[in-house]
Amino acid sequence: MEDVDVVIVGAGSAGLAAAKSLRTAGLTFKVFEAMNRIGGRAWTSTEHFGVPFDIGCAWLHAADRNPYFPEAEAAGWTLHHHDMNVDHLYYRKRKASEEEEAAMKAADTEISELLENHTGTDDRLSSLLAKGHATRAAATFAGPMDFGADEDEISIADFKAAADLEPNYFTYEGFGALVARFGADVPVELSTPVRKILWDVPGVACVTDRGTVRAKAVIVTASPAVLAFEEIEFSPLLPDSHFSAFFDLPMGMLTKIPLEIRGTRLGLSPFDDLLIERIARHDIYFLCFPFDLDLMVGFIGGDFAWEVSAAGEAAGVDFVTDRLCGIFGNDVRKHVGRAMMTNWGGERFVRGAYAAARPGKAEARRILMEPVAERIFFAGEALAGSLIQTCGGARLSGEAVARQVAAQLADSRCEAVQLAF
Ligand SMILES: Cc1cc2nc3c(=O)[nH]c(=O)nc-3n(C[C@H](O)[C@H](O)[C@H](O)COP(=O)(O)OP(=O)(O)OC[C@H]3O[C@@H](n4cnc5c(N)ncnc54)[C@H](O)[C@@H]3O)c2cc1C
Repeated sequence: MEDVDVVIVGAGSAGLAAAKSLRTAGLTFKVFEAMNRIGGRAWTSTEHFGVPFDIGCAWLHAADRNPYFPEAEAAGWTLHHHDMNVDHLYYRKRKASEEEEAAMKAADTEISELLENHTGTDDRLSSLLAKGHATRAAATFAGPMDFGADEDEISIADFKAAADLEPNYFTYEGFGALVARFGADVPVELSTPVRKILWDVPGVACVTDRGTVRAKAVIVTASPAVLAFEEIEFSPLLPDSHFSAFFDLPMGMLTKIPLEIRGTRLGLSPFDDLLIERIARHDIYFLCFPFDLDLMVGFIGGDFAWEVSAAGEAAGVDFVTDRLCGIFGNDVRKHVGRAMMTNWGGERFVRGAYAAARPGKAEARRILMEPVAERIFFAGEALAGSLIQTCGGARLSGEAVARQVAAQLADSRCEAVQLAF
């Protein structure tokens, strides 16, 4: 295989963006992608429901700073602003009273204030949260359903560093389709995992099953979990600080279980948010009938999402159907059509939804932003500053790291020219 200036590992949002930035900077590159498609965790499929459904990212968060948003607008795609307030709250099978709904909203504000004023040494988000129905519901929405992890596994410092993601939009055509459109002109070697990166050579040598490519630098966009599992062997070993950082940024989990509901809207309106708060943290959030499609998209987050994934699709679909029946009556069953369950934990080259720092380990993100030996660079959602965990953030991270690599290669070229004189 031909030598290039830069190898990019992964053709998700970060890798595609890095490639486009390197091209603008006039550098040569090769992108290797383990899967047989581009987009990574951005993936729209019409396979399950005959309409676009986002298996991975769906909300265009922080639309005012999200580079995908103006592209969707310019392409004339159907966009819908979605305010993420819980419209319908249930405690198990019981509809919450108006007072309880108001208490949950108040708890939401209270949690924000507690976070703002937090000074203690206990970095677990759970240490901030008082017990009680309303606070639990607010914490569920912000923790497992948003951050993908249970409150006792979320670092307060990490949580605080993440931006408020308003304004949020959906696109009918699909966020994954938008990323695929963005990356369509990037040459990518699909189904080609990088197995090994040698860096005791000049530059780096990236080993795949189809050959080895040498480059001056490599940008690795694989998730921290993929790296912690040593899917890529680094030789020599990476510094302990970097390797520990992979472990300190474990992947949270968000499992989607969409159900087709035909012939009824259950008294709900398109895009309503419905949260069922249950004991034992077996909570479910539903995005109801987006774009007036016959779909109720169930979301389960955190530890319970890993458990449901392990139980399998049939168990997951039954669980969600039963919960809807518990609220709207057994008649619902007659209206349920096609269904599926996402399984990001089982995707070998992703291994979860997105990274959340362990309590006390928020520093891990900064460590991974340091290149190793000025030639191994990391990028992706885990390193996206205040837009961590988002697809737009992943793209901005890929672009920023590509600019860093280009600047560094330009500097080393200048040094070489100076030495020649
Ligand atoms: C269920 C779910 C819901 C989400 N919802 C939202 C949302 O609503 N809005 C939002 O903004 N974000 C959301 N996200 C997060 C968003 O999808 C990710 O933050 C973003 O897509 C990550 O992009 P990335 O490029 O950093 O990583 P990835 O998309 O994971 O790309 C990395 C790529 O590297 C490849 N790879 C890994 N190892 C190797 C190797 N050894 N060799 C070659 N290739 C390799 C992988 O196959 C992958 O394609 C969601 C994620 C999930 C899972």
